[in-house]
Amino acid sequence: MTIQAYAAHKANGKLESFEYELDSLKPDEVDVDVEYCGICHSDLHMLKNEWGITQYPFVPGHEIIGKVSAIGDMVSHLEVGQYVGVGWRARSCLICDQCLSGHHNRCLKGEDVIVGRYGGFADKVRCQAVWAFPLPKNINIKTAGPLFCGGITVFNPIIQNNIKATDHVAVVGIGGLGHMALKFLNSWGCEVTVFSTNPEKEKEARQFGAHNFLNSLTLRSSANIFDMVLVTTNVDLDWDLYINMLRPGGKLHIVGAAPQIKATVSPLVSGERSIGGSPIGGPATINMMLDFCNRHAIEPVIEEFPISRVNEALSHLESGKARYRIVLRNDLK
Ligand code: NAP
Ligand code: ZN
Repeated sequence: MTIQAYAAHKANGKLESFEYELDSLKPDEVDVDVEYCGICHSDLHMLKNEWGITQYPFVPGHEIIGKVSAIGDMVSHLEVGQYVGVGWRARSCLICDQCLSGHHNRCLKGEDVIVGRYGGFADKVRCQAVWAFPLPKNINIKTAGPLFCGGITVFNPIIQNNIKATDHVAVVGIGGLGHMALKFLNSWGCEVTVFSTNPEKEKEARQFGAHNFLNSLTLRSSANIFDMVLVTTNVDLDWDLYINMLRPGGKLHIVGAAPQIKATVSPLVSGERSIGGSPIGGPATINMMLDFCNRHAIEPVIEEFPISRVNEALSHLESGKARYRIVLRNDLK
């Protein structure tokens, strides 16, 4: 089967039309006809080979919405023609300790949709059926794609850190991930503060659910405020400043691909504060997120581009002007 896609042939190269052949479907896999695909900042990191794992030709795209077009012999929970979402992960082993305890997102034998495989800037994408999620009935298929990487990446820390409705939580950065975090945390019941480098985002940040908006470029030191600080930016920060704002027992939870962190140890020891991170979320948490979105009418705020204008869309994201997630509409056919 010949697949139409957009691929870069070298690091930071322009995306060009590209065709590749898909061989036969494995018994546990599904093919999905891509209708919409979000652009995550990880697509940009990968395009530039900033993590040293990109293989070219590189087809980005891992926030996919489409209809199942084929199912393997072992797949019993999906039907051809059904709408599904596919995110960062394409496969996990299902038998390691991590998979067996529901943390398939941590499986060391896992495969990711755009790492050594061709992603969703294409007319079709393939994955293990467990990573293709049926959509709730009322979900908006045009805006739902970003839930499957950006969304679950900021929903998962709420579950993993046992965040309560009475907690005070801060989000650093209002991009694709950050704006969804504000929506989730507000609906969860938390008091939500956002740190942004762009004061022009304040009005919208408050509409998304932030109760407090602070300019991260002019921050002054303050202490013991937040139960969790969720970092969604990919840049170096004044880490001690954010750690000092944690209440005792609080967590600096990093999901943005910042290069490294430098932090003073004493506030961690004296107040049992901790630093951690996470990749997307397990399948059960993804279903929990979809249910939560359905109940609270949460949807990503998107700008739609036809996939034929993918290079323009990537530049728009890179320039920091995306409000707040770009979604490509498949016009390949
Ligand atoms: P994005 O839409 O480009 O948003 C990033 C935000 O970071 C910007 O909107 C901006 O917010 C803030 N920012 C930019 N430059 C900054 C600076 N110099 N100082 C402080 N803040 C700055 O990106 P995204 O798609 O949300 O992804 C964010 C990061 O998460 C990326 O590194 C991506 O690879 C990573 N990611 C990780 C996972 C995971 O599994 N852990 C999943 C998806 C994405 P303000 O304008 O509000 O400052
Ligand atoms: Zn992503």
